[in-house]
Parts: sequence; structure tokens; C-alpha cells
Amino acid sequence: MKRPVLLFATTNPHKVAEIEAMLGPCFTVKSLLDFGLPGPEETGATLEENAEIKARYAYERTGLPGIGEDTGLFVRALHWAPGVYSARFSGGGDRENREKLLYLMRGERDRYAEFRTVLAIYDGREVRFLRGVLPGRITTEERGSGGFGYDPIFVPEGHSRTLAEMSPEEKNRISHRRRAIDALLRWIVRNI
Ligand code: IMP
Repeated sequence: MKRPVLLFATTNPHKVAEIEAMLGPCFTVKSLLDFGLPGPEETGATLEENAEIKARYAYERTGLPGIGEDTGLFVRALHWAPGVYSARFSGGGDRENREKLLYLMRGERDRYAEFRTVLAIYDGREVRFLRGVLPGRITTEERGSGGFGYDPIFVPEGHSRTLAEMSPEEKNRISHRRRAIDALLRWIVRNI
């Protein structure tokens, strides 16, 4: 049987690898990298707006139903920053973003944070949103070398290791992205 194609509107190879590991056996996962397309500008004020921008962009450029994905880290003690601005938090890369967050959180006792992922699926007619949330806390120092982004400074609730100290399989079993992908799969099953 031919596997259905799901086109994710991302150019982030870490995200593609994670999504492929989750959907691999049932779906062919494609990304903007397969089409040689750059990502669209993320001009939205919310994860939903950015996910929708990405989904529409993918559909308009390829003619395939597009799935936009946007993720942010929301830290309670920082009034839920960096949130939708997680990628541009420091003006530098992932390392600088983590350093800035740890600096702002020094001495802070409330370490609660959550990763939120929003998926938007657009087929040329309407946009649907699916979501996944992973609660946890911000560490006081970096730990682990796996994953990407803010993984080395985030410990999921009920765990003692950071996402970067977990194997890819462990992260993919519990992550915000996994939860959003599960919601997407439930939606696909209901709508086929
Ligand atoms: P975006 O969704 O690609 O815009 O990513 C937003 C920011 O969150 C970037 O700084 C990413 O590195 C970071 N990020 C996205 N997903 C994850 C994740 O699963 N773990 C840690 N950081 C992530």
C-alpha cells in the first residue's frame, strides 16, 4: 500500500527527524527541504498565526495539503516569555537563547515552564489546529547533549532528566510535538 504523504512546512532538520520517527511507518513525511523551499517569515503574534502562515505557504507553493508547526517555550516567572518569540529570544542562536533564559531565571524559585506546539493543517479550504503541551521546569544549568533548542534546560514534569539527557525515543514518547502529532492522528482518523 502506498503511504500517504504529509507535508510539514518546516526547514528544521531536528523537527523533521522527530516527526519522521513518530510517523515513519504509516506516512511519508516531507518537508520544505524536499522542495528546496525556504521557510516563510514568521510574522504572527501567536503560535496559531505562525502555524497557519506556514501551512498556507506550503499549500500555495506545492499544491499539497500543508501542515504548519510552531513551538514555543512559555516560562511562568517570565510572564510566559519567550513564547512565540522563542526562536528570536536573544538575537543569536539556540545556545545564546538558553544562556539568556538561564540568566533571567537566576535566583528564581518558580521554575515552571511548558513547551507548546501548535499544528495547523490547510488543504486549500479551511485551517484546522491541533495542539500539544509538555509541562516541566527550567533547570539552573545546561544538562545533556541530545535534542535541540531549549532541551538542555528543560525537565519534563515527573522526570529528573532534561530532554537533552533523554534518548530520541524517550523524548519522542512524551514531547509536546508527540502530543500534537497524536492529536493530528486522531483528527485524521476521524476525518477519513
Ligand atoms: P520554531 O517553532 O521553529 O519557531 O522554534 C521556536 C524555538 O523553540 C526555537 O528556538 C527552537 O529551537 C525551539 N524549539 C522548538 N522545538 C523545540 C523542542 O522540541 N525542544 C527544544 N526547543 C525547541
